[in-house]
Amino acid sequence: MTATSPRSAAVPQADIDQLNMVLSVPAVMPGDPEYDEARKVFNAMIDRKPAMIVHCADVADVIASVNFAREHGMLLAVRGGGHNGPGFGTCDGGMVTKRISGRTGSGSRVDSSPSPSAAMVRVIGSHRS
Ligand SMILES: Cc1cc2nc3c(=O)[nH]c(=O)nc-3n(C[C@H](O)[C@H](O)[C@H](O)COP(=O)(O)OP(=O)(O)OC[C@H]3O[C@@H](n4cnc5c(N)ncnc54)[C@H](O)[C@@H]3O)c2cc1C
Repeated sequence: MTATSPRSAAVPQADIDQLNMVLSVPAVMPGDPEYDEARKVFNAMIDRKPAMIVHCADVADVIASVNFAREHGMLLAVRGGGHNGPGFGTCDGGMVTKRISGRTGSGSRVDSSPSPSAAMVRVIGSHRS
């Protein structure tokens, strides 16, 4: 069985299964009960149908999903809050990555570092969906 979409090459189910084994939460696929809710963005005029939606809980999930999209030639929409007006936080036929809600607060954080020039700023989305 393969997941197909108008804008992405067919992705073998075995590859999706392998991805799911490393993700914190299995990808949401068309037909799953939570699919329609997961694909919604703020602008209700945007009605796109991604081939898969990955809820990322941590950096490892982000790395695995971005690598997967690249290796399979999939369009990738990186969703923060889903508020982007033209709907760039979703796509037709590709992968959407979004962070798992409620795991982190919103805002930004500067990690401590021995060298100010090497400090890292983390910006965290503020959506509550
Ligand atoms: C009701 C409302 C109120 C708002 N209020 C404010 C406000 O008070 N202050 C303010 O500053 N803004 C505000 N905005 C604007 C909104 O915050 C901006 O549109 C913001 O860019 C949306 O961020 P997001 O994380 O929700 O983006 P999302 O909708 O999650 O979109 C994802 C973003 O990532 C980019 N992206 C997706 N995939 C990729 C990829 N593969 N490679 C590179 N980039 C990618 C897209 O271009 C897009 O910008 C508001 C918008 C709305 C609708």
